[in-house]
Formats: sequence, structure tokens, C-alpha cells
Amino acid sequence: MHIQKKILHVLASLARGLHLWPFIARSGLFNRARRRKYPDTIVHLDVVITECCTLRCRDCSNLMQYYHKPENLDAEEMVTCLRRLLASVKVNQLKLLGGEPFVCQKSLIRILEYLRDETDGRVNEIDIITNGTIVPSEETLNTVTKDPRIKIVFSNYGELSSRLEELSSICDNKGIRYEIVNDDFWWDFGDLRIRDEKQSKTQHRYDGCYSRRLCTTLYRGKLYICPRQAHAINLGIIPEVKDEIVDVKDPLFDDPSVLHKAVDILIDRRECISTCKRCGCDSGKKVSRAVQAERPINVS
Ligand code: SF4
Repeated sequence: MHIQKKILHVLASLARGLHLWPFIARSGLFNRARRRKYPDTIVHLDVVITECCTLRCRDCSNLMQYYHKPENLDAEEMVTCLRRLLASVKVNQLKLLGGEPFVCQKSLIRILEYLRDETDGRVNEIDIITNGTIVPSEETLNTVTKDPRIKIVFSNYGELSSRLEELSSICDNKGIRYEIVNDDFWWDFGDLRIRDEKQSKTQHRYDGCYSRRLCTTLYRGKLYICPRQAHAINLGIIPEVKDEIVDVKDPLFDDPSVLHKAVDILIDRRECISTCKRCGCDSGKKVSRAVQAERPINVS
């Protein structure tokens, strides 16, 4: 299994290096292989639990830098949506993120307890994605230790991740699984202006998009293709287009099989979404990771 994973990783890197992803995705090969390997499953699901963050990264690809009044989301609403979604599909890797998820530990605990008590066999892995700036409370850490599916993933931003050393030794002592991600740079997704380009170029961007494959996003009760789309809509930068999202709360989806079908259609979507016109994820430009903005950025 481990070797198979490694081979897949090498093949994916090769496809990226040779710029083959847009063609593989366009052919539908990737989605078909994924469906075979993970039937009835969202392979990677980002669950946004807060817009608040302890850092303000100028180039955050999830657009947190544009929030002037960030909010923590309502825990009960998130549990209700997760319950509906997980009654219709399974999730392989569920990522809890923000913003910074440790800024709202009460909500985090509520969600972790729900996942522990009700989602055995429905969710394989649970990752908490954190920037290493907050040491969670004993109560939070104890909740984490009670579910072996949970791993804490630290994004290491050097000096900015000021509590990382302390956090990793706490994890060692408590037997909590963790991973430290040391990215040397970020890919620049660019600003949110509309690109003056041919439709084929926008489609090519979507076809090769990493976020689209790995970051299906659940945010404020709706399922999105990617986090950029989710936050651009919530920030009022682009209008919501009905067939580009799934509103999990919609009574239309009271029947789990109907919701399942809608999720499949969204994930298998071949046509690019409106947000791709306002995205530069294929620019190939690198930026220094976690450069801090002095204040929230205005959308120009
Ligand atoms: S907006 Fe389109 S191209 Fe950009 S990250 Fe989302 S799916 Fe990918």
C-alpha cells in the first residue's frame, strides 16, 4: 500500500512537471480512477470553521486577507450540515481549517466530538490545519487524543509559527499524531480581477487545477469546487451561480441519494466555474510564504 502511494505520488509529480494534468483531467481519466478507488466518497474535503486568523498572509490562496470582519462559524450549523452531507457520501480526508482553527476551540471541540461519536466508517482521516501560533487548551488536546483518526498538520512559517516547538513536544508527550509542512514558497494565485483571456485559457486553468482536485470545500452550509470560489462568493466579489455549488441545507436534498447525486455532479464537473476567470493559479509565479499584510486588503 505504501509503495503504491509512493508510485502514485511520483506519477503525479511527473504529470505536473510535464504539464500533463490539464489533459489527464480533461479526458476524465483522473475522475474515473478516483471513483473506482473511492466509490461514494469525497476524497479531500476542506471544512472551514472560521475566517479568523492569527496571521494575515498577503498571498493566502483562501482569501482570508480580504476579510475586514472575519467571523467564527456556528458549530451547530456546521454539525447539521456535516451530518446531512455524511449521510449521503463518505469522506476520505476531512481537513478542519480556517483561518486558524484554534482561535475557536469551543466550536472545534463540538465538531471533533460529533466526528468521533457519529462518523466511524464515514470519515477515514481528520486533519486539523494550523499555523503553529496557538497552544490549544487541555480540553481541546484531550478531545484530539480520543480519536485516532486525527492528525495535527502544522504549516511551518518559521518565526511566525512561534509556538511550533512547544506544540510538537506537547503532541509527542500526549501521543498525538502530527506532521510539519515546510513549504519553501507558495504559488501565486494573483488578485481577483477578471482576466482578459480566451475561454480556452480559463478552461485549461481549471483542467490543470490542484485546488479543484484536492480542496472540495464545505463552507457556511454549501459545497464548493475550491476555497477561492467559496470565499470570493462570500466576500461578494462574484455572484453565486446555482449549478456551480451544492447548497447542502436545501430541502431538495433531504433525500441523501439526491444529495449524493448533486455532489457527484459537482466533483465531476468538466466545465470551468466563473471564479476561474479571476484566478491566476497557473501563473507559475512563486511568492515567499506567509508575507504579512499590515491590514486587511481591499478588493480592487
Ligand atoms: S478558481 Fe478555478 S482555477 Fe482557481 S483554484 Fe478554483 S477551480 Fe482552480
